[in-house]
Amino acid sequence: MTDLTIVGGGLAGCEAAWQAAQRGLKVSLFEMRPEVKTGAHTSSYLSELVCSNSLGSNLLDRAPGLLKDELRRLGSLLLQCARETSVPAGGALAVDREMFASIVTERIEGHKNITLIRREIREIPNKATVIASGPLTSPELSKAIQKISGKQHLYFYDAIAPIVEKESIDFSTAFFASRYGRGDQETGDYINCPMTKDEYIAFVEELLTAERIELKPFEKDLETGVKAGSHRFFEGCLPVEILARRGRDTLAFGPMRPVGLSDPHTKRRPYAVLQLRQDNLAGTLFNMVGFQTNLKFPEQRRIFREIPGMERATFVRYGQMHRNTFIYSPALLKPTLQFKSRHDLFFAGQIIGVEGYAGNIATGLLAGWNAARLLNGQHAIALPPTTMLGALCQYITHASAADFQPMKANFGILPPLEGEIKRNRRERAVAYTQRSLSDLEQFLQLLQMSEG
Ligand SMILES: Cc1cc2nc3c(=O)[nH]c(=O)nc-3n(C[C@H](O)[C@H](O)[C@H](O)COP(=O)(O)OP(=O)(O)OC[C@H]3O[C@@H](n4cnc5c(N)ncnc54)[C@H](O)[C@@H]3O)c2cc1C
Repeated sequence: MTDLTIVGGGLAGCEAAWQAAQRGLKVSLFEMRPEVKTGAHTSSYLSELVCSNSLGSNLLDRAPGLLKDELRRLGSLLLQCARETSVPAGGALAVDREMFASIVTERIEGHKNITLIRREIREIPNKATVIASGPLTSPELSKAIQKISGKQHLYFYDAIAPIVEKESIDFSTAFFASRYGRGDQETGDYINCPMTKDEYIAFVEELLTAERIELKPFEKDLETGVKAGSHRFFEGCLPVEILARRGRDTLAFGPMRPVGLSDPHTKRRPYAVLQLRQDNLAGTLFNMVGFQTNLKFPEQRRIFREIPGMERATFVRYGQMHRNTFIYSPALLKPTLQFKSRHDLFFAGQIIGVEGYAGNIATGLLAGWNAARLLNGQHAIALPPTTMLGALCQYITHASAADFQPMKANFGILPPLEGEIKRNRRERAVAYTQRSLSDLEQFLQLLQMSEG
């Protein structure tokens, strides 16, 4: 007998399934792949990472680092799997994507309380359910979600970055280094392709005139005023050619910034730099950091090969645009991740407007935990808004209606610090972190005491 149905075996769905199963629930986890494809996933593994292999910073004075520490304290399965399959990435937690997805699949399939069913769900089940079908929710399920949520169901586009083979990069120009020498490996974790000012300017010119793939115009959305044919992107995941349009130096101050790097060949700081991050444990594949793009594939090959060191680059995957689906959480969800008008229905992951792998895992954790609490006769909980997970849930359920945008872990969404003490940025980050972790600890202790 199933207690809880989970739709979607991605990051949020797997974490939710694990949390609920660990608390004794019988869970049916529905994943439509491999029969029904998403257009971005390429394997039949659960929790496949579709773009970057990085779960973001590991450092405790960074917001994603704090979120990971909260996940660790809350017993996250996927964080544990990520640590077991990590690859060098400076202060970040990056994984061998295949190993990561394969061990998550193994653990989920091996749990005695979880039944994995490879089938598309087309209607919202009429019993306790977590919807974690992600940004590429199947069209049929999207329609069903639209039916219960009204007009507030939004669509827009996002972009992924190319991956190249390391052995195709020319190291007489490119060099290994981490910014400010802060890497895990002595040689540095990133491959850097340096550019002079003239090279950079010529490159930006090419980006501005390059041919882009035509996107299907999407429907006018009355809620947000998005016009048919216009394109909306996550601010943090803008295609490189869109960034280039914002001004000649936008890239040199953005993903191509050279700070903390010195070119060992010239002993000087380059004007701009393309960084490539290790993508698999074997260290044979590297992805172009911040180079999400919607350029036509031959254009990507032509233009990116103009970057010094990339002249003979072999692309194992080109950048692409993709659909992104999320619900209008401020009107629909509670900070417990329950649907306002149906308390046994939970939503988690990217579909609620939380951006980033770690955030998707974290909301899956809360939804699974709360579903278990509810079915075990307890009330669903919202975490303190001073914790990063609590703040994310607070933000997406209370954001202003007019400009609701998906949100990543960041210190800006935490309530201000008390007291008049003047602090610099780093000191503020440390204070936020200390407050979050101590409030989380206290919250868990009180919960345990009140429930025995
Ligand atoms: C192409 C792309 C690139 C991205 N790049 C990044 C990145 O680099 N860094 C980052 O932090 N975030 C990125 N994101 C955003 C987001 O973090 C990831 O999509 C993340 O995997 C979302 O986790 P999730 O659990 O919400 O959804 P997913 O991991 O996508 O899992 C949802 C699962 O539900 C399944 N499913 C869908 N509909 C149904 C149905 N009707 N029935 C049954 N199963 C269904 C899907 O097959 C999928 O396996 C990207 C998103 C996309 C689409």
